[in-house]
This record gives sequence, structure tokens and C-alpha cells, in this order.
Amino acid sequence: MVITQQHTGFIGLGANLGEPVTSIRSALDQIALIEGVELIRSSSLYDSVPMGPSEQPNYINAVCKIKATLSGLDLLHALQRIENEHGRIRQGEHWGPRTLDLDLLILGTQSYSTTELTLPHYGMRGREFVLVPLFELQPDLLMHDSQPIAKWVAECDVSQLRRIHPK
Ligand code: AMP
Repeated sequence: MVITQQHTGFIGLGANLGEPVTSIRSALDQIALIEGVELIRSSSLYDSVPMGPSEQPNYINAVCKIKATLSGLDLLHALQRIENEHGRIRQGEHWGPRTLDLDLLILGTQSYSTTELTLPHYGMRGREFVLVPLFELQPDLLMHDSQPIAKWVAECDVSQLRRIHPK
């Protein structure tokens, strides 16, 4: 009997070009279709002010919870294929506008520290548009420094984050 280990994971989604709400919803549908991935649930959508260059539209963000039997690297590659299908163009501009950005935030206890993949994702701390939807999905989550997620959320400026109803 083959027993394949399932890891609980979280993916951050963001878009600020084209039709961002449509892009996030179709990306969620496509994540659910990745072989070896089960989409458990997704957060509300949030409207956030962009990091970095300010002459760009606000972002729509969300986080989804998955169970996956894939390695972090295989899952990253599957997410990059979905980004590319949404016409993502990598222009090299850090924090520049994008039709779809998918970040693998956490995958069980898997840990990577390579140029291609950092896991847990390096950019969670201080990013309200990641932590607030993550908290909505998993309020009892312990972050990798063993602090409760509520503490990380409390350190964020949430004044410009707006939850969009309905999902
Ligand atoms: P960005 O343009 O900010 O989305 O960065 C994309 C780059 O980050 C890609 O080249 C990925 O290989 C790399 N990367 C490293 N760690 C992660 C991660 N946990 N999730 C998504 N991309 C990652």
C-alpha cells in the first residue's frame, strides 16, 4: 500500500491589472485542478494599496488553504504555469504591476532556502494583505518563529486594507 503524505499549505494570490477579481477567481479554480492538490477553502477578497511603485492600481488579494502531496518545488512550478496562463509578463520590475501573482506561503513543515524557492515565504511578515486573509482562514496558525499569527497581524498597518464582500 502506498501512503502519500499530505501537507496543509497556503497560497497567496494578488492581481492589479486587467480584471483582478476575475483573475483571482479563475486562479482559484485552476489551483483546485492541480494534480495532487485539494483546495480546502479560500479567504474573502481584499483590496490593498500596492507596495513599492505607487503609480499603479490597487491590488486584489486573497489566500487559499490547500492539502497537497506535491513537493514545494513542484507546486511552485504548477503555480508559475497558472501565472503564465494569465498572461503574466515578468518585466523584472520588483513589486511592479501584474495580472496575477501566486506565492507559496507555507507547505506543511517544508523548508527551502534556494534562489528559486524560499519556504516559508520570506515576505509574510508585515504584509497585511497576506496575513489578514491568512488569519481569516486559520486564526490558530503558529508562524515559523512559533508566534501565533495574531501577533504578526497585530504588527501590521491594516488601515488601508479593505475586505470586499462577497467573496
Ligand atoms: P515575484 O515577482 O515577487 O512574484 O517573485 C517571483 C520569484 O520569486 C520567482 O522567481 C520564484 O522562483 C521566487 N520565489 C521564491 N520563493 C517563492 C515562494 N515561496 N513562492 C513564490 N515564488 C517564490
